[in-house]
Amino acid sequence: MFSYWEQQSFSYYDHIVIGAGIVGLSAAMELKEKYSKSRILVLERGLFPTGASTRNAGFACMGSATELLDDLQHTPEADVVALFAARKKGLDQLRIRLGDDKIGYHANGGHELISDKEIDVLDKLDYLNTLLLPVAGKSAFLPASDRIAEFGFKGTYAKALIAHTCEGELNSGMMMRALMDMAIQQGIEIKTGAEVTGYDETEKKVTVHVKNPFRKEEWPLACATLTICTNAFTKQLLPNEDITPGRGQVLITDVIPGLKIKGIFHFDQGYYYFREIDGRVLFGGGRNIDFAGEETTEIALNEKIQADLEEKLRTIILPDTDHTIAQRWAGIMAFGQTKYPIVKAFSDKVFGAFRLGGMGVALGTEVARQVVALHEL
Ligand SMILES: Cc1cc2nc3c(=O)[nH]c(=O)nc-3n(C[C@H](O)[C@H](O)[C@H](O)COP(=O)(O)OP(=O)(O)OC[C@H]3O[C@@H](n4cnc5c(N)ncnc54)[C@H](O)[C@@H]3O)c2cc1C
Repeated sequence: MFSYWEQQSFSYYDHIVIGAGIVGLSAAMELKEKYSKSRILVLERGLFPTGASTRNAGFACMGSATELLDDLQHTPEADVVALFAARKKGLDQLRIRLGDDKIGYHANGGHELISDKEIDVLDKLDYLNTLLLPVAGKSAFLPASDRIAEFGFKGTYAKALIAHTCEGELNSGMMMRALMDMAIQQGIEIKTGAEVTGYDETEKKVTVHVKNPFRKEEWPLACATLTICTNAFTKQLLPNEDITPGRGQVLITDVIPGLKIKGIFHFDQGYYYFREIDGRVLFGGGRNIDFAGEETTEIALNEKIQADLEEKLRTIILPDTDHTIAQRWAGIMAFGQTKYPIVKAFSDKVFGAFRLGGMGVALGTEVARQVVALHEL
């Protein structure tokens, strides 16, 4: 039961976007840039964005050498290069849109720790650099083993080090706040605590159904176009899409005086990643030791993986340094048969951009641009 005023002023939008992660907010802004007079609404089920964008590690990354070489085992070269290029383009666009200061972006570089069993990778860097040169514009990967001691790694795990010259780091909280602030400034409405349960489409409009616990009734909103940016949670709305959720575990230490590491680091084909932030070490990963347990959309800690992270933190990252854990959390990623995100028109009114995998920070802005480009077709 709606009032005349509610019906008139709150129930129609030109464009509705579901999901206020990096993709949803960026898509809303792309729509505003294209259709400046239009009324745009973002619907987010959490009190604030609650999937991956506010829970990640803030790596502005394109893929480690071992990860890209692994991709090349089962993906054509052209596809691997195209995805690398999309990540790079997305990062460039994000930095231009928000500015480095607003997102805490620093080009402190990235490194990959190479174990005994991966040492052959060093022989393949020339091949990777040649392949990626047209996109990177420089050698993307350089041997850097002379820095192992400088970072305090001791060489227990890291037998070699590779520098990643295209990567940077950012503060994911600042990035998401900046995206929300900019969207609001542009006149985009963002409603949080608004879970979409489904939608219907007719020739003239799309009706979006939103849970409204306060009124104990569903709240139908009409729009001309709907863009679904719900990443790992998309199956609720589009059950036939190829999406498997993958939870990621993270921990962060208290401040460590004299911390030697700077920048971002990967190891074990990208399954583990750590960085310095505010004088602390943020460390995440380990999904590969319990794939089945982490194939869930439930935001919860996994004790086995958290214990593995603690052990690797003690033995590989901070072998000689006292440290304490300040906080732990988990977030949900989306994976599928390929590493490509799904960017698709489901009709001339319903669009989707989701399944960003484990490297959506750099890619998110470009994926949003791509889905909004489909609105013109
Ligand atoms: C632990 C972890 C570490 C990561 N580290 C990195 C990293 O360092 N670098 C990197 O590049 N990538 C990283 N990623 C991946 C990256 O965070 C994601 O690829 C990216 O944030 C995906 O953005 P998104 O907007 O597509 O999805 P999300 O951020 O998940 O946004 C989807 C939004 O949709 C909302 N939603 C879902 N269903 C509904 C519904 N029915 N109604 C309304 N709202 C709904 C959710 O609440 C959520 O806010 C990491 C991810 C995790 C989990």
